[in-house]
Amino acid sequence: MIPFNRPSVTALERRYVAEALSAGNLSGDGPFTRKAVRLLRRVTGIASPMLLTTSCTHALEMSARLLKLQPGDEVILPSYTFVSTANAVLQCGAVPVFADIDPRTMNLDASKLEELITGRTRAVYVVHYAGVPCEMDTVMDIARRHALPVVEDAAQAVGSHYKNRSAGSIGDYGCFSFHETKNYTMGEGGALILNRSESLREAEIIREKGTDRSRFVRGEVDKYTWQQPGSSYLPSDVLAATLCGQLERFDEIMESRMRVWNAYHEGFQQLEKAGKARRPFIPDDVGHNAHLYYLLLENRKVRDRLIEDLRRRGVQACFHYVALHTSPQGLSLGCRPGTLPVTEDCAERLLRLPLYCGMREKETAQVIQSVTECL
Ligand SMILES: *Cc1c(COP(=O)(O)O)cnc(C)c1O
Repeated sequence: MIPFNRPSVTALERRYVAEALSAGNLSGDGPFTRKAVRLLRRVTGIASPMLLTTSCTHALEMSARLLKLQPGDEVILPSYTFVSTANAVLQCGAVPVFADIDPRTMNLDASKLEELITGRTRAVYVVHYAGVPCEMDTVMDIARRHALPVVEDAAQAVGSHYKNRSAGSIGDYGCFSFHETKNYTMGEGGALILNRSESLREAEIIREKGTDRSRFVRGEVDKYTWQQPGSSYLPSDVLAATLCGQLERFDEIMESRMRVWNAYHEGFQQLEKAGKARRPFIPDDVGHNAHLYYLLLENRKVRDRLIEDLRRRGVQACFHYVALHTSPQGLSLGCRPGTLPVTEDCAERLLRLPLYCGMREKETAQVIQSVTECL
């Protein structure tokens, strides 16, 4: 079976983890955490403060807390996203207002953003689907005119660029994921990027159970105390050690994934010409990170049958998000199917193909051939 995803772990990650275990610093913010942040800064070129977190879900939660979202506030976000984007909003009692997507990129349709803004709107959360950054200039322009902060859910976009700026560095906050299924992994983990650096101190407190322990560790205060409500969002240094290995292999991992992505893109050209499948669209001004490769098929029936046919041929292909506004939780918030036609249509037709670092040419060729024959 060609799996959908396979984490790429080498002797380097194993050595760092062994070092972290031997050093005896198993809790958070140890030497490997500091090293991981330095590496992340280097590979992304992001100068803003960054905090390593236990997940992107938690980085998103931190951003919602830092924005002081309150019950009754409205937050605009795409319906085509992972549940974590919406959970962050709900957790503060705020109301998610789902936006439709641009069918070319599966990202929030910036041309439909302004009409969703009301007197209660407090923030905009955007998602860079498949590691392809969304139309940030338009989003930022609209948000700034309405004095709304923007959070980038850049879970999939570590190493991606929009007009030469790193994904995650453009909005007020950026959130990365280092989950096993993402390009660079520590098993479970993430990072919060604070492009509004004045919120760094509060972010550190929220991340350390509501205490100023981070300042204490740096020797800035002689004891640490409870400052405000908080939680525990710092990952173990053992996990950070894994991430250090991954980020030292940044180029190798990116290049390996890119080879697979490019082979798919070329291999499916004919299918697109024949009208059998639509390939991902990459706008001219973005640099993507080969996070995932998808095809948009004719309809749900064709997509579901293809998943089944590929499985029989030893290829694990997957659908992706069920539109949040049509999910049980979305319905219980009063959302209705039929309100976001592009999201509903594309979500049913999208198929993701195997893509991982170290995937062999032979395997890629087998996927291309299987898809082509099945269609
Ligand atoms: C993976 C993902 C998340 C969640 O990341 P975790 O690190 O698993 O919490 C959030 N948003 C998007 C768009 C994702 O793809």
